This record gives sequence, C-alpha cells and structure tokens, in this order.
Amino acid sequence: MKILVMGPPGAGKGSQSAKIVKSYNIPSISTGQMFREAYKNNESMGIEAMEYIKNGNLVSDQITNKIVKHRLHRYDTERSFLLDGYPRTVRQAVALDEMLENMGTKLDAVINILSSNDVLFERMENRRVCKKCGATYHLIFKKPSISGVCDLCSGELYQREDDTLESVKRRLEIYETKTKPLLDYYEKKGILYNINGMQPFDNVYADIELVLREL
Ligand code: ADP
Ligand code: ADP
Ligand code: ZN
Repeated sequence: MKILVMGPPGAGKGSQSAKIVKSYNIPSISTGQMFREAYKNNESMGIEAMEYIKNGNLVSDQITNKIVKHRLHRYDTERSFLLDGYPRTVRQAVALDEMLENMGTKLDAVINILSSNDVLFERMENRRVCKKCGATYHLIFKKPSISGVCDLCSGELYQREDDTLESVKRRLEIYETKTKPLLDYYEKKGILYNINGMQPFDNVYADIELVLREL
C-alpha cells in the first residue's frame, strides 16, 4: 500500500496519518515532521527550512525532494509507505513520480482531506504539539489528560512556530495557488479520493478506511 495524504494545513492530515500507519503498520514520511525534527536537533538543513516554515512559506523543492528521496531509499519503504504533506507543488509531484518509477513502483491512492477555511483557522489556533514525540492535540477536541503534558510520553506541549494568524493566512494562500493544482494531476491519474474532513476524528477515519479497504 503506497498512499499519499493531502489537504490544506489543519485539515487533519497528521492526525489521520498517525491512525493509518498504526493500524496498517506502515512507515510514515511527513516532510513537515522531518523539518521540525531536524530543526530541534540543530541540523543546518532544519535551521534553513525553519526560516521558510515560520513565515508560512514552502521550503524549496530542491531541499524537500532531496530529503524524501533519501528517506524513500531506506529498506522499509519497499512494500508500503504513507506520505503526509508531500508533494505540495507540481514540481514535487513530478519528482516523486520519477523517484517511484526508478524504484519500479507507483502510488495506489491519494487521500485528499477537505475542510472549510474557518474550520482550518480554528484548528490551527487550538493545535498543540508534543516537543518530544510530535503527537498532536487540540485544546477542545483532543485535550491531553493533564494540561500542557503529552499523554504518550509526558513531553511538553507547545504551539508551533507557524501556527500564528499571519502564517496560517499565508499557508492557506499558498495551498490555493501551489498545492491545489495537484488535485487535477492526481484526478487525471484516477487515484484521487476526496474525504470530508469536517467530521469527528473517527468518522473521517472510517471514510478513509472504506477507500483503503478497496486497494
Ligand atoms: P494537518 O496535519 O493537516 O495540519 P492536524 O492533524 O495537525 O492537521 O490537525 C490540526 C488540528 O486539528 C489539531 O489540533 C488536531 O488535533 C485537530 N483535528 C484534526 N482532525 C480533527 C477532527 N476531525 N475534529 C476535530 N479536530 C481535529
Ligand atoms: P501543515 O499541513 O499543518 O501546514 P506540515 O507539518 O505538513 O503542516 O508542514 C509544515 C510546514 O513545513 C509547511 O508550512 C512548509 O513550510 C513546510 N513543508 C512541509 N512539507 C513541505 C513540502 N512538501 N514542500 C515544501 N515545504 C513543506
Ligand atoms: Zn509526546
């Protein structure tokens, strides 16, 4: 199973991807998570990427394609993987197709999670993330048992550098201009599946499962 989870920022890609990789036991490749991890570890790539990220801009296609290519070459991606938040531009999609072709494989499905902008704003304002393990919470819909503390690892919860109002606006604009055209690209390949992301977590997941079960 080789799938890709798409959607505007805040749609629930990370939350749903976490559920999918857990129940199907497949590796997850999240470029946003990889950038945040590299930044946390003081790697030069992470520091460079964070300059773009915190202002709501995309990291360059060159850097992004390079880290994905590197990650896809690890042995664990041979049978299955889930890409979360990559590709985000047509150039990245073309680069990905080339990488997969070289690996003798292709994508089985693109899960596109849809939501209205007011829901997206509300979700990013209330999003909190664990500093230690990256788990995602929501101050109303996915509250940690102890305020400010991760249920899974007791790590500290923080608000992402790019979840400011200005940055969210910019990311939504960029989504419209740079990422949305990709939907056409995958629609034409006949592998695009739209999912209503404005439902409770479990209902969104149930809709995704209906698609995955058919693959
Ligand atoms: P993305 O990876 O697409 O940016 P996240 O999975 O991080 O999105 O979700 C954004 C925020 O919205 C998080 O705080 C998350 O807990 C919350 N969230 C995600 N899906 C739902 C949902 N179906 N209902 C309510 N809140 C949700
Ligand atoms: P969200 O979907 O909530 O915006 P992500 O964790 O997927 O969160 O991405 C966070 C940020 O990391 C993006 O706003 C962007 O700056 C950068 N990023 C992630 N994936 C890519 C990508 N494929 N291409 C360019 N930049 C990316
Ligand atoms: Zn944690």
